[in-house]
Amino acid sequence: MNTSVSGNPAKSLRQLPSVDAVLKQATALVKEYGHDLVTVKIQLLLGSRRESMLAGNESEADSTTITLEILNQLRLALEQDSQSSLMPVFNLTGTILHTNLGRAVLPRCALDAVAAAASDSVNLEYDLQNGERGERDSHFESLVCELTGAEAATAVNNNAAAVLLLLNTLALGKEVPVSRGELVEIGGSFRIPEIMERSDCTLVEVGATNRTHLKDYQKAINDNTALLLKVHTSNYRIEGFTAEVAEAELAALASKNKIPFVMDMGSGCLVDLAQYGLPSEPTAAQAIATGADLITFSGDKLLGGPQCGIIAGKKVLIDEIRNNPLKRALRLDKMTIAALVAVLNLYRNPSSLLQELPAMRQLTRSLDDVHAQAERLCSPMQAALGMGYEVVIEATDSQIGSGALPVKSIPSAALVISPLCGKDKALRDLEQAFRRLPKPVIGRIHRGAYWLDFRCLEPVAEQNFIEQLGSLERIPK
Ligand SMILES: *Cc1c(COP(=O)(O)O)cnc(C)c1O
Repeated sequence: MNTSVSGNPAKSLRQLPSVDAVLKQATALVKEYGHDLVTVKIQLLLGSRRESMLAGNESEADSTTITLEILNQLRLALEQDSQSSLMPVFNLTGTILHTNLGRAVLPRCALDAVAAAASDSVNLEYDLQNGERGERDSHFESLVCELTGAEAATAVNNNAAAVLLLLNTLALGKEVPVSRGELVEIGGSFRIPEIMERSDCTLVEVGATNRTHLKDYQKAINDNTALLLKVHTSNYRIEGFTAEVAEAELAALASKNKIPFVMDMGSGCLVDLAQYGLPSEPTAAQAIATGADLITFSGDKLLGGPQCGIIAGKKVLIDEIRNNPLKRALRLDKMTIAALVAVLNLYRNPSSLLQELPAMRQLTRSLDDVHAQAERLCSPMQAALGMGYEVVIEATDSQIGSGALPVKSIPSAALVISPLCGKDKALRDLEQAFRRLPKPVIGRIHRGAYWLDFRCLEPVAEQNFIEQLGSLERIPK
């Protein structure tokens, strides 16, 4: 930074201000960040400035100049420190419910409900009618029952926790037969065999990877069988010579043996997506109607709500699950409950659901609409990038994500950007430049180009997206 270095470090050192001298001029910062934090930062900055001077790396400057420089560095350091590493991004990956990007975006009504619950005391476990202790689950239980046809419901931190709690309650020390075709791994850390081990129940693998028959389950059932579990193979499909046992048959088999039939549904689909022209996914109500005694599903996948895991079904079983001490360790907080109730309420009025719920809005957004947006963005993008890049509109396929409907996709439109030099490094630099924007843009590199799928760019955010393209200055034009 400095071209001429000091010839006399000792003389320069005398120009270094004291901690108190800097502190006196930092009153606004002290007010904002507190005396102790600011003092520590000043000590650090003065310390490294001293080292740099002793090493002869600083040009001569008077005390006033040094103090101003230190004050500037101080403000930047404090600002950087107080910035959360968790921040909003543009999800242009083409995956709507992206686990790494926080899955479902909450609707306005849920945000308001969260703010209200967070900023005040609430009747979380207090029965206002009778003035006595209430039940945390009571706020959403009747809504879940109404929307699924279940008798009772509870909820925990996520669906993985729901499966864990369910098995730990109903299958502790017992056996659970599961089809070899359903021993799924989701997102690297949730594996059915491992969850079963941690739940202290024994997995009994039945059938083959591609084919499992009713008689395989029949043979596996003995006096120590706790329940039958069907796991929705939500992130893959086994195709070809395949067979699985229909839910109704499994329900009947379980009932004959007086054990519960449980379905881990993965995505919490509450409405028939086919009515909106989307690939259909089994709904929670269908599962209950088919004879599932209990179902579990995520709150932040297709349901479009906050992260949580819902368990719904027979009241006797739900009561047992609620009494498991682990429920206390996995329970929902008031903000999640507030958001969940707000989102579930939207499902009571399906006609406004598509407009109000971001997940549904993004899923059902028409190709024409996304394409028109890509057209609007094409020339601002070209202008921001300069002539070193080719920008074209291409048809693409959005994924629903989070394991829902793995092999089905939704037609979408993308801007596809290619560095004309054709170099791999240029492509990676471009991707990085987008990631370093004030509101980072997350796209994907595909077939030697950078793809931005606009399905999840809400029209209200479009202006902000265009404006910050001006900050894309680190890439060669
Ligand atoms: C996604 C999924 C889970 C895990 O749910 P989380 O809410 O991510 O904990 C479990 N089972 C199935 C079948 C899933 O699709």
